[in-house]
Amino acid sequence: MRKPILAAFAALLAFGGGARADNFPSRPITIVVPFSAGGPSDAVARIMAERMRTTLGQTILIENATGAGGSLGVGRVVRAAPDGYTISFGHLGTHVANGAIYKLDYDLVTDLEPVVLLPSNPMVIVSKNAVPAKSLRELIAWLKARPAPPIAGTAGAGSGSHIAGLYFENVTGIKLQFVPYRGTAPALTDLVAGQIDIIVDQLSNSISQVRAGTIRAYAVTDDKRVEEASDIPTTDEAGLPGFHMTLWSGLWVPKGTPKAIIAKLNAAAVDAMNDPAVRKKFENLGLQTPPADQLSPQALGAWQKAEIAKWWPMIKAADVKVD
Ligand code: ASP
Repeated sequence: MRKPILAAFAALLAFGGGARADNFPSRPITIVVPFSAGGPSDAVARIMAERMRTTLGQTILIENATGAGGSLGVGRVVRAAPDGYTISFGHLGTHVANGAIYKLDYDLVTDLEPVVLLPSNPMVIVSKNAVPAKSLRELIAWLKARPAPPIAGTAGAGSGSHIAGLYFENVTGIKLQFVPYRGTAPALTDLVAGQIDIIVDQLSNSISQVRAGTIRAYAVTDDKRVEEASDIPTTDEAGLPGFHMTLWSGLWVPKGTPKAIIAKLNAAAVDAMNDPAVRKKFENLGLQTPPADQLSPQALGAWQKAEIAKWWPMIKAADVKVD
């Protein structure tokens, strides 16, 4: 009588209990993107997922779990089973800055395992077309002359666009009024519509609207121009020397995920980034793929820690208030 019950229990354990690497993946995988669909994080995740599913032989679903600067979506992965089937997509905002802004109920370093570093791009300072400025210097003068703080759209406190906005306040002395959205896709829609004044946005998000002439671009936050948008000057050229910021992304899984599963996910992601068709898609968005020696899980872990050391002091000094 007991045997069938024990056998059923053993089968249940084998299926749902310990994660097995040899037959991984045997069912669909979910990548949790903590910002809105159609935005820059979503774009990178979808390009990666489309190619990774060929290598892994399984469907990869994208789940946009938005809110609180991406910290809710990351929390959803921290609490998921450590079996490789739930992956956290994140970036400098979600996996670095948020730890200095929110009282998170998880630790960004010890509750997650790094998988791989993903492409990055600089930010671009963009305004609604109604702003009469023709250069970054003129934009700064216009912003300074506003009777009330100009409105800067962000993807929430701690997001890339918010950190870049804080950095912009820091180097210009301009006080901005930050308006949080669930991602920079909806923020950009409002910029095009003239509802907000500026975004210090990821270039990959704004680039098509800049090309279409529906918003105005002033400078990219890098020391060299981006080939795909070579008419936009760098901050160094445009009058804010040293205002550099690169928004990089990555993939993480919950703590305790078997190393062999992490290795499979890493290999599929590296495969994707080595595919010329994928590289082309990233290049069109002004995104740069990391060098080969930066693509191990260890390299992402070391990079994340170095970025925490670099950014937390500035972010903590800004004393960002969140609910
Ligand atoms: N990654 C963007 C940011 O942090 C948000 C987004 O992807 O929508 O500003």
